[in-house]
Amino acid sequence: MKDDETRHEREIATRLVTAGRRSEWTGPVVNPPVWRASTHLYENMAAHAEGPRHNEDGRFFYGRRGAPTQWALADALTGLEQGAAGTVLYPSGVSAIAGVLLALLKPGDILLITDNAYDPSRVMGRGLLADFGIETRFFDPLDLDAYAALFCERTRAVLLEAPGSLTMEVADVPALAAIAREKGAVSVMDNTWAGPLGFQALANGVDVVLHALTKHVGGHSDLMMGSASAGEELYQTLRKRAQTLGLVVSPDDAALALRGLRTLKLRMEQEAASALRLAEWLSKRPEVAAVLCPMLPGAPGHEIWKRDFTGGCGLFSFVMRGGTMAARNAFIDALDLFGIGYSWGGFESLVTPVDAKPLRAVMSWPPPGCATEDRFGVRLSVGLEDPDDLIADLEQAFAAMARR
Ligand SMILES: *Cc1c(COP(=O)(O)O)cnc(C)c1O
Repeated sequence: MKDDETRHEREIATRLVTAGRRSEWTGPVVNPPVWRASTHLYENMAAHAEGPRHNEDGRFFYGRRGAPTQWALADALTGLEQGAAGTVLYPSGVSAIAGVLLALLKPGDILLITDNAYDPSRVMGRGLLADFGIETRFFDPLDLDAYAALFCERTRAVLLEAPGSLTMEVADVPALAAIAREKGAVSVMDNTWAGPLGFQALANGVDVVLHALTKHVGGHSDLMMGSASAGEELYQTLRKRAQTLGLVVSPDDAALALRGLRTLKLRMEQEAASALRLAEWLSKRPEVAAVLCPMLPGAPGHEIWKRDFTGGCGLFSFVMRGGTMAARNAFIDALDLFGIGYSWGGFESLVTPVDAKPLRAVMSWPPPGCATEDRFGVRLSVGLEDPDDLIADLEQAFAAMARR
């Protein structure tokens, strides 16, 4: 294995294969075995006294600090993130968000959250953080001046997400992160959509990047996990707070996440290509008012996506032209290959309704370019099925909607 100084040198496709496979963790086999461990046994009292002193991955202490399977996954994720000194694993994406914010913020601080953030992040700001005396303010990520004007001496952190959850706006992350840094605040980005293949958050000026590994890294809709990566100082801050909160992931799940990681590039590229085909097809349908897919030329955010991102994924939304909620719901009910369900990034296609209005404090819905009656949205997570079959499924669902 390459050492820490050189591990970011090779192309990311190569790193997806080699990452985390240190021989001291894998032994003679390809993948790190599942180390189920709470107790680590010490050889003698001298080793016992030494144990707690070294708080780093690769050092046995007690199960809460992990064992080789979790270390290998954390190491692999660090290896994919330019500028990261380390990665902390969390039992879900939401717990990664909570773990990071609770590490950075204290009573009296102000947190700025992008208005199109994943809804549980918004709920966390208004609920958990408010209970601890931390104030949350929402901002429109497309209005840099208004955002810059929000900062004051109590502003400690900013939570970014691009594209935004459900509504898919692509913010100018380098600009938002640079303003945060200039104002002395820590920027955190939920980069679940693009992942390290599609957007290098730290290299673009973000201080902490987090991922819901539940989505693309897991990739098979059978595990929950999150991660946060950062440079040395913030990594240590996150790590200590995660340990205080007792956050640890199971070695079985870590092994599954590592398995998912190896095929991440193939799956994401296929999904993104299929999603683009579906987005193009949808953009020509009379039933559709807007396609919110950053990879689609002409769609909102496409220019910034093209400038800053190196990839996309299968997740995008579209807005029905007029109609009623009942009609939109009939469309979703008629779909056969798209399961109705939360989450995304699995091998199978999914669909959820998008009714964003109640979820926005300062941004507008319907999106720009839509009439006020174009309100009913649909979010698709495009999986690995044949895109022609998926298009045929959408077509018959539109027909079913028209027949009702
Ligand atoms: C799903 C999701 C999360 C949370 O991940 P869980 O593992 O489900 O808790 C966080 N951010 C985004 C953008 C997500 O889509």
